[in-house]
Amino acid sequence: MCIGCGLCQAVAGPEKVKAVKVTSGHIRPVAGPDLDHEDVDLIYDVCPGTRVDGLPERLVDESTQIDPVWGAHRTIVLAHAGDPAIRFEGSTGGVLTALGTYLLETQRVKFIFHTKASRSEPTFGESTLSFTSGDVWEAAGSRYGPTATLVDIKDVLNRGEPFAFIGKPCDIGALRNYARHDQRVDTLVKYWLTLVCGGYMPPAAMNDFLARYDVAPTDVTAFRYRGRGCPGPTRFETRQGLVKELRYTDFWGEDESGWSLPFRCKVCPDGIGESADIAVCDTWPGGSPNPKTEDQDPGANAMIARTLAGQELLEAAIHDGALGVDDPHLSPKDITDFQPHQMKKKYAVWARFEGLKAEGCTAPITNRLRLKHLADEMGDAFNTMQANGTRKRVRDGNTKEPTPQPAEPN
Ligand SMILES: Cc1cc2nc3c(=O)[nH]c(=O)nc-3n(C[C@H](O)[C@H](O)[C@H](O)COP(=O)(O)OP(=O)(O)OC[C@H]3O[C@@H](n4cnc5c(N)ncnc54)[C@H](O)[C@@H]3O)c2cc1C
Repeated sequence: MCIGCGLCQAVAGPEKVKAVKVTSGHIRPVAGPDLDHEDVDLIYDVCPGTRVDGLPERLVDESTQIDPVWGAHRTIVLAHAGDPAIRFEGSTGGVLTALGTYLLETQRVKFIFHTKASRSEPTFGESTLSFTSGDVWEAAGSRYGPTATLVDIKDVLNRGEPFAFIGKPCDIGALRNYARHDQRVDTLVKYWLTLVCGGYMPPAAMNDFLARYDVAPTDVTAFRYRGRGCPGPTRFETRQGLVKELRYTDFWGEDESGWSLPFRCKVCPDGIGESADIAVCDTWPGGSPNPKTEDQDPGANAMIARTLAGQELLEAAIHDGALGVDDPHLSPKDITDFQPHQMKKKYAVWARFEGLKAEGCTAPITNRLRLKHLADEMGDAFNTMQANGTRKRVRDGNTKEPTPQPAEPN
């Protein structure tokens, strides 16, 4: 159930666990001989593969509405970065880059802790601290490759300065888990911002994609998944001088049939960032960009403010022009229209976990995600089908990875 976030290395220490690229191509923890039961108990309590919680109860009040699928929300808007250059550069409407920039410029935080394209593995992401708007700009754009977002979290906390965290929902969940063990997290993380996430791209799928162009993964020197328009082109460069630019729908397939996922992402109980202050997403009706118009879309995000802090930030950023609003009153029904794949997964996850447990596999402990409630709405026939499908995947060997062994360096 590992997503390769690296939090296990951070909590146990690199001498006991190292989150590195392994032979499968993923980032995975490689355990050293000194790892003991106490370390493993702590890791299982913070790992987003073994524990996933919804919004902490203290952040829910009488103004919070709870949608059974989409979770806590106070305000939902359709918006884009106020600065047209950020809107263009960003993945969708650039709102995360705009918020990161706004938080720094208004001195609400000292830095943004998030990720940018990896320097050593251009298809991967790597964690970074942004202190200026230029730094935030450099990290704009979604990266669908493996990213050890939290591997340096202790160094980040050791700075003792207030910051905002931007990560995938699983990264946010992992840091919320760690907050139960390190009180500096809740003191120093002033804003928790996330992107709705359908899952990251397994390295084998990336290698297959590159093979279509006779490119070896080790020859790639730059890779941009999207951004510079919405979704914007997928572009890569190689050390032999090849520069290839494709439409996003050519990269993923027009119906996103090229979208291949790690097993953990197929059974993700929270791809929608339930424990963030603000969760943002794409807004293509039906869930995929229209290949006929994707080159002309300027991009707008749906933004779900879940907490008081999120709502206050959203309103201040709109007031000060950091965000432009296309529609101030979206509803959960609009999110269902934009994210049908997330809704389907949310309804199926409880039964998929039952299937895992029936086969003796690890399923994450979850709290405050309403999964059983949603499964009950679906009824026995659906749940049995989902559970049996997962059991079959387990028996067919499609849910396991080899014990992680470090890959040879490039
Ligand atoms: C793996 C993945 C899967 C996604 N799946 C969906 C989906 O199913 N539905 C949907 O609506 N949207 C999905 N998105 C989000 C979407 O692509 C946009 O990122 C989102 O709409 C934010 O747009 P923006 O213009 O505000 O982002 P930008 O302004 O470009 O900012 C993006 C921010 O995200 C951070 N970031 C980028 N990649 C990663 C990463 N791998 N891990 C952690 N942080 C990262 C960057 O540091 C940056 O701060 C996914 C994104 C990723 C990375």
